[in-house]
Amino acid sequence: MLAVQPHYDDNDIACAGTLIRLCDAGARVTYVTVTDDLAGVLDPSIDDDEARRRLVAEQRAAGDIVGVSGFEELGWADAAGLHRVALRDQVVDLVRRYRPEVVLTVDPWLRHEAHSDHTITGLAVSEAVILSGLPRFRRSEELTPHDVGAVAYCFTDDPTVVVDTSAVQDRRHAALDCYRAQFTDEGLARLHSGLDRVERSWAPSGATHGERLKVLAPHRLHVGVGG
Ligand SMILES: [Zn+2]
Repeated sequence: MLAVQPHYDDNDIACAGTLIRLCDAGARVTYVTVTDDLAGVLDPSIDDDEARRRLVAEQRAAGDIVGVSGFEELGWADAAGLHRVALRDQVVDLVRRYRPEVVLTVDPWLRHEAHSDHTITGLAVSEAVILSGLPRFRRSEELTPHDVGAVAYCFTDDPTVVVDTSAVQDRRHAALDCYRAQFTDEGLARLHSGLDRVERSWAPSGATHGERLKVLAPHRLHVGVGG
């Protein structure tokens, strides 16, 4: 799985429990982070290089808990405007290099999403998924076409699956505790309690917690026909 997130903590906030279960089951999951995330760092006294070091260290610590296999950073400036087509082409190249069965990203059609890093990432990744298998698109000797089996959207209003994450709650929340640079103690406590509340409300029958994802075949991502 290639898990493409706008910011360094989105994958883990949205669905660390699902990712833990996948990694435990033997999946190779690579995190791709689109922006440098500097806009959200709270401490104004540290310089950008130190902030970057902290962000990377926090993400790697969370990734160790989740079981992530690798990390890619695309380095776009946080909250400064993404170029959708340029980002799409970067993601196509990553898809062709990693050759994932599933690509995870944020749902660009979430009803009240106001952050353009999220909407543009979701759209760019979606388009990359439908183009990466076309042999004449970005033709290259080195990176050959690859068809993705499914795209999975987190932060979605329209889930198609709810994953039972009851058994991995400790690690799900331990991963979140790694992310300190952008949260006050109170903010992090609110995140834990808010996620616990909604994930209890989403729990499938017989479970205590669940995470919601919209999983689609790539052919569903263009003009709405084709079964
Ligand atoms: Zn984000």
